[in-house]
Amino acid sequence: MKKRLVLSTLVLFPVYVLFFYLYLFHWTSPDVPQAYKGSAADPVTFMTAQEMALSQEYSQYRNLLYFIGLPFEILIYIAVLVFGWSPVFKRFGERVSKLSFIKIPIYVLLLSTVVWLISFPLDFIGYRLSFQYGISTQNFSSWMRDELISFWVGFIIMGLLITVLYILMKKTQKRWWLYAWLLLIPFFTFMMYIQPVWIDPLYNEFTELKDPVLEEKILTLAHQADIPADRVFEVDMSEKTNAMNAYVNGIGSNLRIVLWDTTLNQLDDGETLFIMAHEIGHYVMNHLYMNLGGVILSSLAGLYITYLLLHVVIRKWGDEFGVKSVSDISSLPVLFLLLTVLSIISTPIESAISRQAERSADEYAIEMRPDREAAIGSFQQLTINGRSEVNPPALVKFFRYGHPTMMERIIMLEEYEKEQ
Ligand SMILES: [Zn+2]
Repeated sequence: MKKRLVLSTLVLFPVYVLFFYLYLFHWTSPDVPQAYKGSAADPVTFMTAQEMALSQEYSQYRNLLYFIGLPFEILIYIAVLVFGWSPVFKRFGERVSKLSFIKIPIYVLLLSTVVWLISFPLDFIGYRLSFQYGISTQNFSSWMRDELISFWVGFIIMGLLITVLYILMKKTQKRWWLYAWLLLIPFFTFMMYIQPVWIDPLYNEFTELKDPVLEEKILTLAHQADIPADRVFEVDMSEKTNAMNAYVNGIGSNLRIVLWDTTLNQLDDGETLFIMAHEIGHYVMNHLYMNLGGVILSSLAGLYITYLLLHVVIRKWGDEFGVKSVSDISSLPVLFLLLTVLSIISTPIESAISRQAERSADEYAIEMRPDREAAIGSFQQLTINGRSEVNPPALVKFFRYGHPTMMERIIMLEEYEKEQ
């Protein structure tokens, strides 16, 4: 099995990368279809030739990097298993302590460190690329600081979840997936509650919106939609990026309306209010809760499928990889490998659902703020700013687009007629 795994990886991965290189750089073109040439969705009408060339280049590199990165974690877990590192990590943890809540987090820390180190070059290339094309403005040490924060936040959350999971596996061979899922429900809800107030401020500074006139306009819009907010937050992002963003997140008393200062610097009030109306649309249509519900339901399916497959894999090949049983912490790379495969398979489905939700938020926004010029202007500005492609290749859209493409969004606005 080991030999077969190594051989097929060595053959399949380069073929996979070559396919995506040809697909992105030679087989597809970023042009809009004939029918939309010269429309507001055609970059020719709102971008300079240089901006268009840069957007195309940047998008191609970004997309290639994304597709290389997609199965990358799988390769790392295969390496960990094939080279027999998993039992080594386990023994290391046991040498420190036999107690589950110490030896399991140590194992998780070692595995996360290996994954982080091996994927670091890809992350770094992504950062440099975004810097070179003028999107990221973050210097290396600030970027590195964010990387380390996410490593530790990720480790604390993962260490906790995995420890509980493996204790459950020890206690019940057949039902651990169900109990784990039952525990995940309050966990996801809690994360959603603390995200805007505890996690997000670890990365950036949140202050009250500096422009009181605009804040008043946004709050008026929010109150029309019954959003219980009495202030709007501004994030100091211009030190890190030129990209724009706005969102409403959190639940209950932790609900926050947030705007990146980059959005405020680059859009006029009408455009900003359209973007805000889009975010309010998400809130009004309960997309936050639907998203939470979706995550909870799909994690039940994911855990059950993982449970079935994990037992099969460990029974068949456990000995070969030095993994004694499912409930042995050294089975973690297999568990992560299966979860990564499932998440790759479910990505196009999740993106399609998300595109649907985003489309209805756009429709809500144009109903609420029927200023079509401002709406189209904001989307064009977002495109120029993010060096985005207006009409990405189909595979890119299926995997990477949680929003409709800018071409689809602008066309929707162009075709929009307010019902009298
Ligand atoms: Zn949205």
